[in-house]
Amino acid sequence: MSKKAVVIGAGIGGMASAIRLAHLGFETSVYESNAEPGGKVNSKHFGSYRFDMGPSVFTEPHLVDELLSINGVSNCDFEYQKLSISCNYFFDDGTRVALPHGPEKVAEVLHKDLGEDKNKVLRFLNKLRRNYEAVYPVFISASLHRFTQWMNVGIFRAISRIPKYGLLRSMDAVNRAQFKNPKTAQIFNRFATYNGSNPYEAPGMLNIIAHLELNIGPYIPKGGMVSISNHLFEQAKSMGVKFYFKQAVNEILHNNKRIEGVRIANQKIDADVVISNMDVHNTYKKLLNGFDGPQKILSQEKSSSAIVFYWGIKKKFPGLDVHNIFFSNEYENEFQKMFKEHELSDDPTIYIHISSKVEKQDAPEYGENWFVMVNAPINKGQDWEIMRKQLRQNILLKLSRILKEDIESLIEIEEYTDPSRLEQMYTGMHGSIYGNSSNSKMSAFYRHPNFSNQLKGLYFSGVTVHPGGGIPLAINSAKIIEKCLKRDFNLV
Ligand SMILES: Cc1cc2nc3c(=O)[nH]c(=O)nc-3n(C[C@H](O)[C@H](O)[C@H](O)COP(=O)(O)OP(=O)(O)OC[C@H]3O[C@@H](n4cnc5c(N)ncnc54)[C@H](O)[C@@H]3O)c2cc1C
Repeated sequence: MSKKAVVIGAGIGGMASAIRLAHLGFETSVYESNAEPGGKVNSKHFGSYRFDMGPSVFTEPHLVDELLSINGVSNCDFEYQKLSISCNYFFDDGTRVALPHGPEKVAEVLHKDLGEDKNKVLRFLNKLRRNYEAVYPVFISASLHRFTQWMNVGIFRAISRIPKYGLLRSMDAVNRAQFKNPKTAQIFNRFATYNGSNPYEAPGMLNIIAHLELNIGPYIPKGGMVSISNHLFEQAKSMGVKFYFKQAVNEILHNNKRIEGVRIANQKIDADVVISNMDVHNTYKKLLNGFDGPQKILSQEKSSSAIVFYWGIKKKFPGLDVHNIFFSNEYENEFQKMFKEHELSDDPTIYIHISSKVEKQDAPEYGENWFVMVNAPINKGQDWEIMRKQLRQNILLKLSRILKEDIESLIEIEEYTDPSRLEQMYTGMHGSIYGNSSNSKMSAFYRHPNFSNQLKGLYFSGVTVHPGGGIPLAINSAKIIEKCLKRDFNLV
């Protein structure tokens, strides 16, 4: 008889886990508290505009392809295209940098627009690529907490490059030493926010995130980001995975240090394996009575949250692209406010994602769907209504000034989300998006393992555990769990 597995949560990490469990022969069920699959990767229509509600930057699409062809049949209708401009950067003094991807092109633009030495940029991008390739087999696609996984042929290469990672300096220190123009350092610093961290504290190692966007380039899926969720959902179902929506798991059941299943209201569901895709902190707090979990890990500073305005704009802006950043003039202060004071800066860095630049059906012919996001502190009970209204004013002032248009008068549809809503919708600890921040030199070692040391049969997937934040890493968490399961259940 096949073993039974329950996955708590149908986020990307949960669905990737379910696909891998089914592939290993487990009878797999996914219980999701919301009404639809995808977790934060979901989509909504407001009037005649469609919005992806969460992620917008898509890298490493091969990881999704791998899941869609895991059983040998390639699910070919998952399509995506590479964007030619990785991001459009706007600075307050009028400087604008439309950054492409590919080392040569990036070096050329940074030389032309910001006066950087081309060869220096090329050497730096090459170092990031080599760092990324060195840590990938040891850290990103393996469990740091299982000697048998990270002790592979890659370990010697990874160790030999340790002096090159920038482990002892902050990203900002590395980037300022590298580039002569502070604007270039600011562009590279921004990648710390891809896992909700502060570039003035996060180790220089995190610069490897830039490799994916600047050396390789970002992609956009046909149909928007939600198409990733929809395809993983269909794939899981086609492999026999059963999904149950609006079914919040209330407790993880165990006996004699071994998993027995889960409880949903008064119903007990038996399982040999439980994978929690729920925020790991809340898994302990809300589902695991009597287990506190590893306190050193769980008490680390949390990653940032976000305020997002979804604006249907009744005009086209040819000067904007799919990804656009309007930088703060006080970048360091913005992070200080966010992480130390749990406040918003009056001069926020604004990110605008416009999928309708590529996906024409996402907005009416005369307009564009603006996903306007500002990184925000976690929910500590602030008055979000007041903060959001003030932020909205600051955003409108800044955008109207730089784009030379009265933006408010162009908004014909408006919705929003904030840290408190994010906490309610996806149960992330205090609305943090990526679990622990990486704001310490040892942050990589302060993420929860993908398995429990206390309960046999309990595993953890998603962005709040190893290897970290973002869709590719959530997918990798499931890959690591598969390796653990093979060993723990002698599944060759
Ligand atoms: C505004 C925003 C912008 C982002 N931008 C990017 C980006 O550009 N690129 C990128 O790669 N990533 C981005 N992210 C992060 C991205 O959303 C995550 O990396 C990704 O969605 C993976 O999430 P996950 O697997 O951890 O699961 P989640 O999406 O957190 O899903 C967890 C699921 O578990 C469910 N659940 C929780 N508790 C229970 C319970 N007790 N019972 C049953 N179900 C439960 C929740 O309802 C949820 O559906 C962004 C996130 C946000 C919010």
